[in-house]
Amino acid sequence: MKRPTILVLGAGYGGLSTVVNLQKSLGANAANIVLINKNDYHYESTWLHEASAGTLSPEQVRYDIKDVIATHVDFVQATVEAIDVKGKVVTTNVGTHTYDYLVISLGFEGETFGIPGLDKHALSIANVKAARHIREHIEYQFATWSLDTEKDDSRLTIIVGGAGFTGIEFLGELGNRVPELCKEYDVPYDKVRVLCVEAAPMVLPGFDDDLVKYAVSQLESKGIEFSIGTPVVEATEEGVKIKTGDDEFEFIKAGTVVWAAGVRGNRLIEETGIENMRARVKVDKDLRAPGYSDVFIVGDCALMINEEINRPYPPTAQIAMQQGDMCANNIIALLKGQPTEDFTPDIKGAICSLGSDDAIGVAFGKKLTGKKASFMKKVVDNRSLFLIGGVGLTLKKGKFNLL
Ligand code: FAD
Ligand code: NAD
Repeated sequence: MKRPTILVLGAGYGGLSTVVNLQKSLGANAANIVLINKNDYHYESTWLHEASAGTLSPEQVRYDIKDVIATHVDFVQATVEAIDVKGKVVTTNVGTHTYDYLVISLGFEGETFGIPGLDKHALSIANVKAARHIREHIEYQFATWSLDTEKDDSRLTIIVGGAGFTGIEFLGELGNRVPELCKEYDVPYDKVRVLCVEAAPMVLPGFDDDLVKYAVSQLESKGIEFSIGTPVVEATEEGVKIKTGDDEFEFIKAGTVVWAAGVRGNRLIEETGIENMRARVKVDKDLRAPGYSDVFIVGDCALMINEEINRPYPPTAQIAMQQGDMCANNIIALLKGQPTEDFTPDIKGAICSLGSDDAIGVAFGKKLTGKKASFMKKVVDNRSLFLIGGVGLTLKKGKFNLL
């Protein structure tokens, strides 16, 4: 009998969790497992704010895919260019692949909501290469400010668009990194401006009030400014325009603009013909794409509604990994002719770091701040390494400055 082919696209949290669970549960001869990813490494997207600020090296946030997959998994380093779910063919820059079961786990892209100039003039914490670019761009601004005889202080202004989890975590890293950069590049600290611009009337909209107050006061104590209720409406080479009133706008000059105001799914989803919202597919309860019994979608390309509040679950690594596990189980069930199971996220909490030594969050229903929250965040970071690569990977890449 022909061995079925399981084709997994993307080696982020969702894709790797799927493959690692398939390889654990299926014998080497039960199926052809093929994993396609753009790079030969996986990166911890959840650590990208650190690589972007320069508080972790890009090398530390990534590891070789070959280190965590079994020899019977066929890894193909390639960029997916098109997914034909009707013809069951995936096209990459190096060839085509057919499948019996397809898992789409191609992750997120920054959402610019069509705001003019952002695509061109703002940087986005999107992947390791983008994070390295942000770090180097900021360092370049500091270095050239030092060199210039006519000093343009706006070079030293960093604007962060969005005070969601990504924006706040990046600001937390900047709070620690800016004093280091000032020392390294002979820049007076008071010349640097770090400003977060948020459209909603509060920082971390929807999060616990007390924890938000703590976060804002900690970040402000590190010199970070907030402009709240003032959406960015345009970006140019010089900076950003924000809306400050009904018909009032302000232009803020800045050498660096980092856009962290939300995510969407991978744009390839929009070309599949599967119904989607901002490249996220409202998947069936067992994680299959509606109308396609052989296509699973996990991670940030999948959308699931939390029926208790009638709103989508946020796209997180926590959910992507749980979906990967369930997706593997459901594919195995189908191979055995058994029924699939429904997926329900098991949300253990949410922790937002404020630099390597501080954080806020809720874990197992308890509110945490400061070192306790920071400790918990590192435990969570290490846990994801452990679940995918075991003790070896955790020891190699884990965070052990726990206090
Ligand atoms: P991704 O992790 O984005 O992986 C997608 C993979 O697909 C990548 O390897 C990519 O290279 C590959 N790929 C993309 N396009 C192609 C292509 N065309 N061809 C081939 N390969 C391709 N969530 C939490 O739960 N906790 C946190 O603490 C947390 N912190 C975060 C911090 C930051 C700074 C950011 C940006 C996000 C954070 N998140 C966090 C959210 C979390 O990172 C995402 O929800 C998670 O990465 C989604 O996993 P995924 O597997 O869907 O996609
Ligand atoms: P988000 O959607 O959570 O937050 C984006 C923020 O940008 C919002 O506060 C929004 O009001 C603001 N915004 C939107 N348009 C704007 C505009 N024009 N001008 C100014 N502000 C604007 O997005 P995110 O922070 O990128 O997070 C993406 C996902 O990743 C979320 O699901 C989040 O929970 C997850 N994440 C989790 C963690 C963690 O658990 N520690 C860390 C980072 C990200």
